[in-house]
Amino acid sequence: MERTFAIVKPDAVEKNVIGRVLNRIEEEGFKVVAMRMVNLSRTDAEGFYAVHEERPFFNDLTQFMSSGPAVVMCLERDGAIAKWREVMGATNPEEAAEGTLRKQLGTNIERNATHGSDAPETAATEIAYFFGGIDLR
Ligand code: ATP
Ligand code: MG
Repeated sequence: MERTFAIVKPDAVEKNVIGRVLNRIEEEGFKVVAMRMVNLSRTDAEGFYAVHEERPFFNDLTQFMSSGPAVVMCLERDGAIAKWREVMGATNPEEAAEGTLRKQLGTNIERNATHGSDAPETAATEIAYFFGGIDLR
């Protein structure tokens, strides 16, 4: 079993599709280990996306991620990290495959509905950024 970290981003919460994302998560065989709604401050978003600090889209991205509520989750499944990225689809919804969440629910390359960790180390760091031991079991 592997764990990954997922976010229903503010654009998807605004579109009222938290339930659709959760449905898909369950249909794809993930167990929701921990979950909560958060209102990220700008500083929280900057910390979370610190690896992208030098990118030209960093300001817009952290402004977007702190623009409204988001839902953060720890998900568990065999091969959870790769599987969740497959279910989400490509970063840019226009390039995402049919049937993926970003294709179905994303608006543009920034407002792309969901986040997923990209490797075991980032999954561990991101889970620990939002959840404590008591939440995870
Ligand atoms: P995430 O980390 O959110 O799961 P990802 O791993 O597919 O997405 P990253 O390269 O890590 O993509 O980019 C992080 C986020 O930054 C993207 O999900 C998107 O919201 C935003 N982003 C990425 N590239 C661009 C871009 N060229 N212009 C605007 N926003 C971007
Ligand atoms: Mg990423």
